[in-house]
Amino acid sequence: MQLLDGKVISERLKVRIAEESAQLLSSIGRKPHLAAILVGNDGGSETYVASKIKNCEKVGFTSSLFRYDGSVTERELLDKIEEVNNDDDVDGLIVQLPLPKHIDPEKVTEKISYKKDVDGFHPLNLGRMVRNLPCFIPATPYGILMMLEEYQIDTVGKSCVIVGRSNIVGSPMSILMSRNDCPGNCTVTLTHSKTKNLKDIVLSADIIVAAIGRKHFITADMVKEGAVVIDVGINREASAVTKSGFKLYGDVDFDMVAPKASWITPVPGGIGLMTIVGLLKNTLASARRDIYP
Ligand code: NDP
Repeated sequence: MQLLDGKVISERLKVRIAEESAQLLSSIGRKPHLAAILVGNDGGSETYVASKIKNCEKVGFTSSLFRYDGSVTERELLDKIEEVNNDDDVDGLIVQLPLPKHIDPEKVTEKISYKKDVDGFHPLNLGRMVRNLPCFIPATPYGILMMLEEYQIDTVGKSCVIVGRSNIVGSPMSILMSRNDCPGNCTVTLTHSKTKNLKDIVLSADIIVAAIGRKHFITADMVKEGAVVIDVGINREASAVTKSGFKLYGDVDFDMVAPKASWITPVPGGIGLMTIVGLLKNTLASARRDIYP
């Protein structure tokens, strides 16, 4: 078994992003700028946004954080998005999910200008992705692609089974892995909670992408000898022994699955770190007007 090490790869890629950000500063006199909106005080969301902001600083980007109480109205939030859309100084805008129940996430996603949609959730970017046109690829699938690329994992003609069909991970991942591109050219099966014979389907996979949200759901008896295993899951549990007061678990039972896998991502230290790189890459591309001139 070999580790697909998110720490090593994300640090390497962030050095390149920092260099490109510095070049941009010397050529056009400004840094890439990411704005984030955080609603409420969900522990996970706080951690993710703090990490995104910290990483912006690390690669020399400007960042802005707009915080709202959980009682903010949908109208107030949409107005703020409109304001940031019209701010020429901002290149990328993300609204951290999940949102309180009284706010429609679809309205929020569609309100963000597709030109600043560095999370890659806007229907226009998703549509362009399906057609293999330049677009902002959703940050987590983008991070997975970069991981596969950096380790030169051969995907051509492989069978790829994705467990979980969310709009932000599983569904876009299924499109990306089946595209005539590199990485890509897999034969993809997208599975979900209604899938029958899930165990047998996952067992047939050369590449497994687990994005379910259930601790250690993928067990050793579901994994073929030599499979590549990508664990997207981040399941937080309270812990008395960690400094943070919680511990993270993947969707894959790492200790039992690792001996069978050819390559595997750890949690933490895997795709979570690569997602941030995906976001930074999209923000840099936006600042350079690479996708929408
Ligand atoms: P969602 O909750 O939106 O989707 C979960 C998916 O898993 C659904 O498609 C659901 O099926 C499927 N599922 C649930 N139970 C089963 C089951 N028993 N058998 C088969 N499929 C099942 O999750 P997300 O994609 O948003 O997130 C998944 C995990 O990834 C979470 O742990 C999340 O925290 C993590 N995550 C990590 C990121 C990172 O940066 N590493 C980024 C985003 C998410 P159905 O559609 O039928 O309900």
